[in-house]
Amino acid sequence: MSDISASEYVSRQEELNDEARQVMPWDASKCTYEMGALKQQVFACRTHNVGICYSCAIQCHTKCDLVELFTKRGFTCECGTEKDSNIDANNIRCQLRKNTEADIPSSTNRYGHNFDGRFCSCDEEYDPESNVVMLQCLLGTECNEDWYHDHCILGNEAGPCKKIEASNSECLTEGFPPLESFDGLICWKCIKRHHSVFQRMISHPLSEKIIEQVVPRNGTNESSNKSNVRKRNIDQVDSVLTPTVDYSILLKPGYSKHFKEIKEACSKDDKLFIFFESLAPFLLEDEHVYEPPIDVDDDRDTDDLLHNILQNDFDRGQAIAGISALNALKSRLTDFLKPFAESGQVVKEDDIKRFFVGRE
Ligand SMILES: [Zn+2]
Ligand SMILES: [Zn+2]
Ligand SMILES: [Zn+2]
Ligand SMILES: [Zn+2]
Ligand SMILES: [Zn+2]
Repeated sequence: MSDISASEYVSRQEELNDEARQVMPWDASKCTYEMGALKQQVFACRTHNVGICYSCAIQCHTKCDLVELFTKRGFTCECGTEKDSNIDANNIRCQLRKNTEADIPSSTNRYGHNFDGRFCSCDEEYDPESNVVMLQCLLGTECNEDWYHDHCILGNEAGPCKKIEASNSECLTEGFPPLESFDGLICWKCIKRHHSVFQRMISHPLSEKIIEQVVPRNGTNESSNKSNVRKRNIDQVDSVLTPTVDYSILLKPGYSKHFKEIKEACSKDDKLFIFFESLAPFLLEDEHVYEPPIDVDDDRDTDDLLHNILQNDFDRGQAIAGISALNALKSRLTDFLKPFAESGQVVKEDDIKRFFVGRE
């Protein structure tokens, strides 16, 4: 067994198990396909061009080029559907549903550039090594819940940033409001789509309780000051609320309650009422995010999970793209197995199985 001692081996294995449990605390034995459209963790498989649930990312598309998209609203897992060309040697499509016939894919899933691993108005791939701040749009009617760089929200090139206190890695662009001052972002693209609705929201008496800040986007109004990143209060924003200026909105903590009050005060044929009722009911409540049950089982399941992740995959090394903690774990596992590879031993699937489930 190469040059690491047995005790070292066991303790490293335990470390990896702990890490796996932190990265993936959930039981990955159930695909969410049958639960239909949910707000859930979604992974994009770029090998098969399909969006899949947490469990399927771990159990069915293990050898694929995955990108973690965090949560998407109203998404149905499409593993094992007609959209997914991933079929194993036994004709099984989804390894969790064990279907051999392709299931019907969702007709309401929305795809977009996130599923190609690209994010923000700058259309860039997420760099997991970088320390830039990215924020997800809460509304998503236009942008499909895209993620934005703070500087792109301001309409600026990436510039100097200052380290966020209490964070040893993230770095906030100069001029961007502190992250703890707000609780949600609605991007300028979604606002533009519902321009009149937002104009009314901003001038509503309750807006003070809802809107932390209106953030105009530089470069959308020729006459505006190009280096305009200063704080704007709601009563100062009248000048930016022309259709030619794009702006995003940062929401205060507790905004839902007040959105509800606004809605309740509207008549049913009011555009604002219709907006809340049929387009964005989720703004009025604490949205439920589906999470797989926490895996409370013993080591065995984690070992199986690790085994699964690794299956035939340990030679891919650092080439794995994407933003997932899962991928980080994969490469740690790859490093872990390196000594075995370097010693010239052929690591067979059985060996891996023994590594990770072999302590019984
Ligand atoms: Zn699934
Ligand atoms: Zn795949
Ligand atoms: Zn699956
Ligand atoms: Zn960007
Ligand atoms: Zn948006």
